[in-house]
This record gives sequence, C-alpha cells and structure tokens, in this order.
Amino acid sequence: MSAVPSHVAAVPSIKLLIGGKFVESKSTVWRDVVNPATQDLLARVPFATREEIDAAVASAKEAFGTWRKTPIGVRARIFLKYQQLIREHMKELAAILTAEQGKTLADAEGDVFRGLEVVEHAANIGTLQMGELATNVAGGVDTYTILQPLGVCAGITPFNFPAMIPLWMFPMAIATGNTFVLKPSEQDPMVTMRLVELALEAGIPAGVLNVVHGGEDVVNAICDHADIKAISFVGSTRVGTHVYNRATLAGKRVQCMMGAKNHAVVLPDANKEQALNALVGAGFGAAGQRCMAASVAVLVGEAQHWIPDLVEKSRALKLNGGTEPGTDVGPVISCAAKSRVEGLIEQGAREGATLELDGRAPKLPGKYASGNFVGPTIFSNVKPGMMIYDQEIFGPVLAIVNAATLDEAIALINANPNGNGVALFTQSGAAARRFQEDIDIGQVGINVPIPVPVPLFSFTGSRGSKLGDLGPYGKQVILFYTQTKTVTARWFDDAASTSVNTTISLR
Ligand code: NAD
Repeated sequence: MSAVPSHVAAVPSIKLLIGGKFVESKSTVWRDVVNPATQDLLARVPFATREEIDAAVASAKEAFGTWRKTPIGVRARIFLKYQQLIREHMKELAAILTAEQGKTLADAEGDVFRGLEVVEHAANIGTLQMGELATNVAGGVDTYTILQPLGVCAGITPFNFPAMIPLWMFPMAIATGNTFVLKPSEQDPMVTMRLVELALEAGIPAGVLNVVHGGEDVVNAICDHADIKAISFVGSTRVGTHVYNRATLAGKRVQCMMGAKNHAVVLPDANKEQALNALVGAGFGAAGQRCMAASVAVLVGEAQHWIPDLVEKSRALKLNGGTEPGTDVGPVISCAAKSRVEGLIEQGAREGATLELDGRAPKLPGKYASGNFVGPTIFSNVKPGMMIYDQEIFGPVLAIVNAATLDEAIALINANPNGNGVALFTQSGAAARRFQEDIDIGQVGINVPIPVPVPLFSFTGSRGSKLGDLGPYGKQVILFYTQTKTVTARWFDDAASTSVNTTISLR
C-alpha cells in the first residue's frame, strides 16, 4: 500500500463502480496488483475513501426504490443474457484470472464456470422466490408469505476464487430484488471487474451493482454503514469472525464462509488409484489455495502403506506458470504467502513430522525464477497440536495422519474445530453410510475429493468454518437475501354479520 509513485503512473488503475459509472478513485492510498508467477505489475487498485463508499451505498439505496419493483421476468432475462456473455468471454476471463491469481488456465476456467452455474441459477429466480399459501386458516381467512428484498446488500470476497465467489453473491442478491455493493479482494480485482462490466452489458441498471475497493478500513465501513442491510463475506476465519461480530452488532444479517482444514479419509478397501489421484489433485490443485482443498489425508490401517505411491504421484506434478501448457501447480498468491507457507513447512519439520516431499525453493526457469512458487509438500506422522495440523496452511502442503480404524478417523475429524468439507474413499456402502451419518462436517464427499455442491443445493460449511445460518446460493440464499412477510387476509361476503371479538383467536 503506498501513495502513487510517479513511475507507475502508466500502469492501468482499477476503477470504482458508482451509480453505473466506472470512476477513478480520489484515494491517495493504492496497492499494486502483481502477477504472482512473474512479479509483473499489472494494475493499481485504490483503497476507496469514505466519501466514495458513501456514494456507492447512496447510489444502491436510490436504485433499490425502482429495482425492488422490477418484474421477475425482467430480472431473470438479465441473468440469462449474463450467462451467455460469460460463456462468450470465458477464455478472456480465464486469462485475466490466471495473470493476477496464478492458477492454471484450465483451473481458471473452472473458477469462472462454477460462478457461471450460480448465474444460471439466478436466471431461475421466478420459481425460487415464491411464497407459500394456505387457504381457510380460519373462516374466510387466507395466509400467504411474500419474500421481499432487504435493500442494499454488500459482499466481501477473498483472493482465491476471484470469479466464482463474487458470482456467488451479487447475482442472487440482485435477482431477488436487492441492490449491491461489492468489495473484491484487493490482491486480484481485475477479473472481478471484467465480470462486473459484463453484468452491466447484460442489462443490470445503474446503481443496482456498485463496486468499491480496499482493505480493512473499507470492510469496517461496510460493517458499520447504516444503509447496508446484509453482508455476505468469504475469507479467513480471523477476518470473517471480526466481520460477523461487527456487522451483527450494527444490526445486519450476515453470513461468513471462512477457513478450513479438510480431511480426506482413505480406507484400505478404497480403489487405490482413484483415491491417490484424488488426494493429489485436491491437495495440490490451485497450489492448495482452495477453502475445500484436501489438506489432511487420514490413512486408515493398511492404507498407510500407500505413502510412497502418493509421494511419487505428487513429485510428478509440473510446477510452472499457469499459462504454460501442461502445468499442474501454479504459484501462491504473494511473496508473503510463499514465506508463510515455507515457514510452516520448516515448523512442521521442527515439530517432528516426517517431511516426505519438500517443495521449498523450487527452481523455475526464466521469467518464472522470481515467482511465488512452492512445490507439492507432504508430511507424514502428523499429529494434532502440531502447527501444520492446527493451522490452515493455504498452500500445497498435505499432512498425513494415521488412524487404526474408521471410528478413530471420525473422532479425530470431529475434534477439529473446522467444518467446511471432508471426504471418504472406500468401496463399502456400509462404511460410507456410517461416515455420512456420524461425521460433524457440513459438506461430505464419498469418493469425491472436493464436495462443493452445485447451485441446486447450498454451500453448507459448518462449525468453525461458518458464521450465520444460511449459506450462499441454492434455496438458502433466497432466504438470506429476503425478508419473509406473512399476510393474513379476510375478505367478507357479508361484513354486517361480524361482531366484536376480544380474544386472540381468528374466528
Ligand atoms: P482474507 O480474510 O485475508 O480476506 C478476505 C476479505 O477480507 C478481503 O476482501 C480483504 O480485503 C478483507 N480483509 C482482509 N483483512 C482484513 C481485516 N483485517 N479487516 C477487515 N477486512 C479484511 O482472506 P483471503 O486470504 O483473501 O482468502 C483466503 C481465505 O478465505 C482462506 O482462509 C480460505 O479458507 C477462505 N475461503 C473460504 C471459503 C468458504 O467458502 N468457506 C471460500 C474461499 C476462501
């Protein structure tokens, strides 16, 4: 973060979106957006001023007056158009995403695609935002519910899915009739801004979607703002807990999807090839920077003999720039993230875990030599209490824990405070059924390593990984972004036949 140095004046500046116009921030505080594979400077992002935040919220508040009454069909057709535009621009979006975030181009398309599925879901708003009706709840009395938008809602997003997570938020909020202020990650806001441009092109009216950039101060201003009714946050547990406490204290409805430590249990009866391939992909894909990454493998009984094969498969992954063909693992997001991950690897070795594969200080050629690369790293003999087990590393590091039985594995996982995702690899239906019943984690994969639900369902992380009751997308998010209003109505055939009733009953 710095005042604008004159030598970077030629670098593109990321704009704010206020009242339908992309505007240059008047801020004196800016941050560089850097390609994590090469350290090339891509753009500068402003930390919005208090006046700019107020202007964005005011524009959303004004637009709400009209938008809340816009017919369902009009809203739905905007998202039909939007999904088409995202499809048409898929390659361009993926290229921007890879440049600023680092993941491979194929994985960047996956990031956009998982968000696109939520846009398709938003296009179904007609059948999603329906109330309930019961007739004759008393003589001539009907009760029905209407799901009304809340007003101005806000979204705060993390760096690791700069396409998918903004698309978890503003399409559903806007489709339900709210207006929105988005605060993208300051580390990689460029693909988010391109998606926002396409949203305007699809027909989202001026003021309905606004964007401010920044960090802690901007987030705190959003938490405190009297005109914001609800906040959706995705990011770390530390920041999410702060946002939840601060914003709920200010009377807002808040959902926070936060950090994780996801275990993948491998039973000895699992299909070995399938299980090991899944562990490697889910542990090291996106350089381990997924909230649903498999960061702990729990090998049960004889499956502990599979460690050498797991190490060999992991060693074979190709570490390189995300735009290079054949790359499996790109860089982590920043120099700070790289030194944090390497520090934790050092700590794991110090604490007595066995370093089976050490990805520190990899050698990459040419322009990637100074990138933030860490290779796949595997520890065995990991135990609770070690920092590499207790902390979310958010890098390409897989910790292996041994368990004698499935029951021991379940007890270990249930004792961990996080509850985002878990997976079981087995060919036993009975074991799978017991696991899904007894495991205290909100999203369970059976022979599926990263069980992120499609938008017909909701994202249902639990316990330490989640604050607030309702998740993003699916049916739950409709309730999150609306107020249920219950109407109880009586229409008289013969008003003259009524009499005074001083009881509470509906007669
Ligand atoms: P982060 O918490 O550092 O940042 C998230 C957002 O909060 C950003 O917009 C950032 O500007 C803002 N922020 C950062 N520091 C702040 C502070 N002190 N006060 C107020 N706001 C602040 O998270 P990140 O590093 O961008 O993302 C990685 C984290 O997100 C991981 O913990 C990951 O597990 C989590 N995540 C969770 C999910 C989920 O669905 N549960 C999905 C993706 C990522």
